[in-house]
Amino acid sequence: MNRLKGLTCVECGHKHEISIIYKCERCKGSLDVEYYYNEIFDEKELFALDTFREGIWKYSSLMPVNEDMNPVTLGEGNTPFFRSSKLIQKLGINNIYLKNESVNPTLSFKDRPLSVALTLAKQYEVEKVITASTGNTGVAAAAYAARAGIPCEIYIPASTPQEKQMMMEVYGAKIKTIEGTFSDAYKVAGETAIANDWLNLTSTFLNPFAIEGDKTLAYEIYEQYGGVPDWIIIPVGAGPLLVSCYKGFKELQLAGKIDSLPRMVGVQAEACAPIVEAFKKGTKVEPWTKSGKSVAGGIADPLTTYSQDGTRTLRTIIESNGQAIAVNDDSIIKHQRLLAEEEGVFVEPSSATALSALEKMKENELVQKDQSVVCVITGHGLKDLDVIKKEN
Ligand SMILES: [Zn+2]
Repeated sequence: MNRLKGLTCVECGHKHEISIIYKCERCKGSLDVEYYYNEIFDEKELFALDTFREGIWKYSSLMPVNEDMNPVTLGEGNTPFFRSSKLIQKLGINNIYLKNESVNPTLSFKDRPLSVALTLAKQYEVEKVITASTGNTGVAAAAYAARAGIPCEIYIPASTPQEKQMMMEVYGAKIKTIEGTFSDAYKVAGETAIANDWLNLTSTFLNPFAIEGDKTLAYEIYEQYGGVPDWIIIPVGAGPLLVSCYKGFKELQLAGKIDSLPRMVGVQAEACAPIVEAFKKGTKVEPWTKSGKSVAGGIADPLTTYSQDGTRTLRTIIESNGQAIAVNDDSIIKHQRLLAEEEGVFVEPSSATALSALEKMKENELVQKDQSVVCVITGHGLKDLDVIKKEN
């Protein structure tokens, strides 16, 4: 069965056949993978037949790779989901859950999209993969490329935490440091990929196939929570995890598994919050021009040359009747400590923003006592130790 219908431009709706492309040929908008959902859902009970596989590959009927491909896997997905009793006491909200993505094989959620991307790289027999990264994507790309036996080149801003750089090196990737922001690294990686015909894995919305791996977060939350939570809070740079997670829930709705959708909350650091700014003003997202320095380096993305990616995330937030929240560094550091000391979960500062946002939502009465909230913990504390080192 051909499950893949094509690639649709999210800006102008133009349809493209499935091939490795990154932008709409008409308007340069980002692309979205479309499936023949009816055929997929008719053929088998969703999630029932792939159970001989584990983690994200349980859901391979909704993945953009050939079904006979052996996945490039390190055991990603199937991450812990649990109630946070201490946060429940502190905030007075009855149902707070943590989805702990920091225990994926390379310690962040990026293992989901990169497992898909490297499986695709094998399917298309690409010579080399390349990515721009603030850290987590690079680490995951390096590990999965090693697993796939494909050389990997990574462009990182000089501010990338040492811990993440070391991991990339250990996995054998070639690292190129760019003086500038992530957006600068993004530009160079994109040009190099096109000039050499390498597969670009950059995990903004650039690679429409990789981000399909992010949808599996929704399937797991649905299975582990046993339905649809009222709110899902996700730290966002450009925001592909938030957008793809919502897509995953929409697919569950199409499959007749659920009849409502969660409200999506995108969190950014106050120092670099282009999506939150646009949400407040009711405009599209503009590149962030202020300094942008925050302890939450993993999400401090000024979206300099691709602000339309931020607008795509903003549209999803608005469609879901959600929220965009900015939080300050003091609150981020406080919640990083709180999660470690009271729940035994050590997260990187970017991930602690989800808790900071929930506290802010409670203060502003955006969330009700009896509503259910899932905070997505995106990455492990060991990958960014700057704040901890400074405090000790
Ligand atoms: Zn277009």
